[in-house]
Amino acid sequence: MVERFSDKEEVAGSIPALPTMLFTTHALTGAAVGVASGNPAIGLLAGIVSHHLLDAIPHFDSGSFYVGTRLKDDPNRRWSKRDWLLAIIDLAIGSTIGLAMWSKHGYSSSFFFGGLGGILPDIILVVPFWKGQVLATKIGGAYAKFHRQYHKTSPIKKWPIGIATNLVLILLSVIYLWRSV
Ligand SMILES: [Zn+2]
Repeated sequence: MVERFSDKEEVAGSIPALPTMLFTTHALTGAAVGVASGNPAIGLLAGIVSHHLLDAIPHFDSGSFYVGTRLKDDPNRRWSKRDWLLAIIDLAIGSTIGLAMWSKHGYSSSFFFGGLGGILPDIILVVPFWKGQVLATKIGGAYAKFHRQYHKTSPIKKWPIGIATNLVLILLSVIYLWRSV
């Protein structure tokens, strides 16, 4: 199994990846706690905290395909076509819901900063353009270790529960935001 994935990954892409819960889930839950806090600065912090709490719940993410292989926590793992496709669909769904919310309710800074806090840890630790520099620093390396340690990615064979976790969180956040923003 390890060989099958690693052979595929050698040629699949050029951008290293770390597992993340779905962007949509982190962004919307972050926005919901931001709105609940009613303050952009507190919302940003609450969004960051929500990120790590959500990561600790067993969930599906792009890393699910690698559970049980040595690529699971490999910071140099390359994105496969499937990883890219998942990320693009995820980004499109999250952005569409976010924009729909804004067009209905107008801009809210606690919504925006909460949502930003929700995705910030992954922006810092996963985006390839600066990830290398971040991980090379002492604080960045320690933060990445903390992020990995409290991260429960479901194996792909348990995808129904892993997807359900994401869907429940998305649904609760959307209902809450729709009513309160
Ligand atoms: Zn994360």
